[in-house]
Amino acid sequence: MKTVDNFNFKSKKALIRVDFNVPLDGNLKVTDASRIAAAKPTIIKILEDGGSAILMSHLGRPDGKASDALSLKNICDKVSEIIGVNVKFASNCVGDAAKEAVKNLKTGEVLLLENLRFHSEEEAGDRSFAEQLANLGDIYVNDAFGTAHRAHASTTIIADFFPDHKCFGYLLAQEILAIDKVMKTGEKPVVAILGGSKVSSKITIIENILDKVDHLIIGGGMTYTFIKAQGGKVGNSICEDDKQELALSILKQAKEKGVEVHLPVDVLAAKDFNNEAETKIVAVTAIPDGWQGLDAGPQTLENFKKVILKSKTILWNGPIGVFEMPNFAKGTIAIGNFIDEATKNGAFSLVGGGDSVAAVKQFGFENKVSYVSTGGGAMLESLEGKILPGIAAIR
Ligand code: AMP
Repeated sequence: MKTVDNFNFKSKKALIRVDFNVPLDGNLKVTDASRIAAAKPTIIKILEDGGSAILMSHLGRPDGKASDALSLKNICDKVSEIIGVNVKFASNCVGDAAKEAVKNLKTGEVLLLENLRFHSEEEAGDRSFAEQLANLGDIYVNDAFGTAHRAHASTTIIADFFPDHKCFGYLLAQEILAIDKVMKTGEKPVVAILGGSKVSSKITIIENILDKVDHLIIGGGMTYTFIKAQGGKVGNSICEDDKQELALSILKQAKEKGVEVHLPVDVLAAKDFNNEAETKIVAVTAIPDGWQGLDAGPQTLENFKKVILKSKTILWNGPIGVFEMPNFAKGTIAIGNFIDEATKNGAFSLVGGGDSVAAVKQFGFENKVSYVSTGGGAMLESLEGKILPGIAAIR
């Protein structure tokens, strides 16, 4: 895998695809700069080599139209503050404004190009647009995992114009290594903990990881489709009736592949879907009519704990209960604590994909797991076993 460490950037202009799609408030101020901070090590390496950096990114969904609200100019000061260099700005990512700004760029300087998605050619993966971007730099660096699953001009097509001068930035390289560590090179036993609301949204992931894991823990709203399919009573719990066959087929495939599946045995059931609802612990197969399972029960957590603590590689995707409501967050917090303990004992743990990242951040587990993936969709597609176009383009 070629990274920025394989190049010396002295006197070179590095064209870096970053993911600066950061949230802005009503005054167009950055509210969470973690994506900018995440790109810093790659930029600093290039500047320290004696090169200059041209940063390109998208912001929001302008759908091919320029707008002040989605201009990357809004974040230029924040990028300067974080990188520690006065970042210059080009009012267009292609054309004369970009060419002129690049021509004037000196060693040690950083230039931020205007929002790539102000041009519809970006998302269309247009070749001549990609070529115009490519002409701006000497070496292409992709450090944007969040868009690696898109075959856009700046993430994929552009790489064709740099047959020997393309590489991954540190952030993207780390993401690839973390995913490989779980999907390809993970020390056994490997466990995947899958939660979230629906089986239907996780089915491709489940089928792909059955070939990679020794244990599969299923929790959250997905549970009830599996329980009902096996004849259990799930009351008012979230359940996809049309996915019961699929659930049974997953269990059968797991058995054939020697994967141990661990489902909840008890749940914290509630009378209503709200935080103040009356609750009781019941067997997962005997949830009374009118009640719904909203979090894992104590015996379930005990069982899951044993599996997690004996695992050497852990993948976590999806909350184990309705963690947005404090009274139903305990199961998800407990899973985070078990993973923390296993990680301290030497396991490698990767958390990724949408709501599990939100839960990990909310409950302060971010620094307790080995790696938290920044790319939602890209992470999910990696877990589904898809080859991401942005990664393939460099490899
Ligand atoms: P997903 O986007 O598929 O990962 O699902 C995440 C959502 O699943 C979160 O918003 C949780 O509140 C929800 N969830 C987890 N457990 C349950 C449950 N037992 N019943 C309903 N929703 C759940």
